[in-house]
Amino acid sequence: MPVFSHAENYNHEQLVFCRRDEVGLKAIIAVHDTTLGNALGGTRRWCYASEAEAIMDVLRLSEGMTYKSAAAGLAMGGAKSVILLDTPGQEPTEAQARAMGRFVETLEGAYIAAEDVGVSPQFCAWMRDETHHVMGDQDNGGDPSPFTSLGCFHAMKSCLAFAGRPIDFAGVTVAIQGLGATGFKLAKLVREAGGDVIATDVNPHAIRRATEELGVRVLADDEDLFALEDVDIIAPCALGGVLGPKHIENLKAPMICGTANNILVDPESDAQLLKERGIVYAPDFISNAGGVIRLAGLYLGMTEAQVDTKVDEIEETTLTILKNTANHASAYDAAVAFAKQRIEAGRRASTT
Ligand code: NAD
Repeated sequence: MPVFSHAENYNHEQLVFCRRDEVGLKAIIAVHDTTLGNALGGTRRWCYASEAEAIMDVLRLSEGMTYKSAAAGLAMGGAKSVILLDTPGQEPTEAQARAMGRFVETLEGAYIAAEDVGVSPQFCAWMRDETHHVMGDQDNGGDPSPFTSLGCFHAMKSCLAFAGRPIDFAGVTVAIQGLGATGFKLAKLVREAGGDVIATDVNPHAIRRATEELGVRVLADDEDLFALEDVDIIAPCALGGVLGPKHIENLKAPMICGTANNILVDPESDAQLLKERGIVYAPDFISNAGGVIRLAGLYLGMTEAQVDTKVDEIEETTLTILKNTANHASAYDAAVAFAKQRIEAGRRASTT
């Protein structure tokens, strides 16, 4: 795979590889952009079909982090790391985590690791035994999902406002895919605000908990979440790449706003299709920024109150971007332009 040209296509600053056979670590760190500051992004443990797929994932995800942090108004750049597993679901070990921590340390703070798929607060704590450039262990921000869910809930309010609806969840039905760390808490917020939730999860325990504790209605086996009628907001909160042209064609819901990263199969063309269909789409890197705001905010020395204010600002940022969509090909384009403006302003400020 032509690694340098890929990194160049995405405009990356660094793409660094690490192999430590004795602890089963094969990892990649991608630092996309540090114009606004050092770059925080999760460490993903995943079994990729190929090394090329892992490289593409880390390049794409780290670019997304640059826009997410910039749009959230953080003095942070964007980066991400991946640990390539030999088999799916391979158990994390302390030795692997510590070796990853030492790898992170070699970048001397340009990259700050955090939780992502397959990485727990315990894994972060083990990494932190080797480097200070880790957030997300119990003593350093912990689980960021409550902040991610709250930020997404704020973004939903902006979707309602932009659609000309009252900012009131009474009578609003939200369809949630995935009742894990973020989806469950989002369902709770919607239910507490008086809204209805219909949801699906591949894990029966997650479903039972949400029905028992929140009174969530479960999607029937023959129902397709993305084709449901009488739903106001669809919230993908599980996987990426769940909305492509086929689903968008059949969507009946007028709004999309979830916590999942990379909801759209092809953000540029799919967001354009959503705009053409008049469906309000809160770009995912805006709606799910609560977690990074929390961890980056604490890393940057913000107080809890300052972090909370920044998470609340997601509502205003989402509305601004939705309004800006009129001047762009899509809400995704409007969001990227919004983030790039902030990066450019940071670049100018640092050179004057
Ligand atoms: P999680 O693993 O806690 O929950 C995901 C849930 O989705 C699980 O309950 C799982 O069983 C379910 N699921 C998996 N495949 C499914 C499918 N095909 N259909 C229905 N349900 C399915 O993860 P999370 O922390 O809630 O993160 C969810 C998404 O949000 C991910 O894309 C993640 O990258 C993104 N995200 C999370 C955070 C955070 O703070 N945790 C921050 C930003 C973005």
